[in-house]
Amino acid sequence: MEYRPELIGGHLGLDLVNTVAWRLDPARTVDRFAELPKVQLWLLAAGVSPDEAVTTQLRDDLVAARDVAYDVLAPLAVGGQPTRAAIDALHELVTGVVRSASVELDPFGWRADDPAGAVRLAVWRLFEDEDLGRLRQCGDGGCGWLFLDRSKNGSRRWCSSADCGNRARARRHYERARGGRTA
Ligand SMILES: [Zn+2]
Repeated sequence: MEYRPELIGGHLGLDLVNTVAWRLDPARTVDRFAELPKVQLWLLAAGVSPDEAVTTQLRDDLVAARDVAYDVLAPLAVGGQPTRAAIDALHELVTGVVRSASVELDPFGWRADDPAGAVRLAVWRLFEDEDLGRLRQCGDGGCGWLFLDRSKNGSRRWCSSADCGNRARARRHYERARGGRTA
């Protein structure tokens, strides 16, 4: 089946975490990184073009970074606290990526030459640069996607208004219609 990566998180680090679809509904959960060609499609869409074909090693590195990021982000998105183990794993990832990155002078900044390093850098920047008070989990009970709510009044509820938002609207409409008949 064709895979068109949806980059709705508002940050590469969140789009990485969102490569697991229906995370909160185990019967429907899909890991987009289960197949290497889909990893390649995601990297291209995310602007992290791999020069060579995606190897299982690269995929495993991306999945590892994704898991570490998710274990910290998911509780934060719902106002909870990550576990000590999750924070330690993130700390390790960040120190590792800073150590292996090179410093570029023009423009000044940290750069990774490999796709896994570039994605790990993005995870670091997410925690470092972004206002995680705006981090949200999609309002759909099964979706589990995370995003930064960049709306002015902080009112964004859905990963995608066309997708989860639309489904919720249809459900409300159906329930109203049904309620109307039985009343
Ligand atoms: Zn959603």
